[in-house]
Amino acid sequence: MQTQCVDACAQCGGEVEERFRFCPWCAAPLRRKYVEFFRAHPRDTGKVLRVSRYVNEDPQVRFSVWDESGRAETAISVDELEAARLAHFLRPPRPARRRTLLDYAAELSARRSSTGSRKTTSS
Ligand SMILES: [Zn+2]
Repeated sequence: MQTQCVDACAQCGGEVEERFRFCPWCAAPLRRKYVEFFRAHPRDTGKVLRVSRYVNEDPQVRFSVWDESGRAETAISVDELEAARLAHFLRPPRPARRRTLLDYAAELSARRSSTGSRKTTSS
């Protein structure tokens, strides 16, 4: 995935690449963050979701939508608490499956072997 990773220095506003630990323009230490990109659903082909987690005195998670030209269309930051709530919301749903006799048998067998009631002989 070809995406431009350019951010602005909080100190001087100069453009800095994410791999830089110090601003090349003013030498300010850059914010510590982790970035992950997520592919869009086909209905949004050409766009990409960038999620940045800032680990600093103002921890936050920033979501931005980038277009094909590498330009951020919009962005929003949420605090750690909201990010955790979002992570919980995004967990894949557990399939509601009815228990079958096989499940029951497997459970019984697992319970029996974990109690150690069965005698095991090693030779
Ligand atoms: Zn700077």
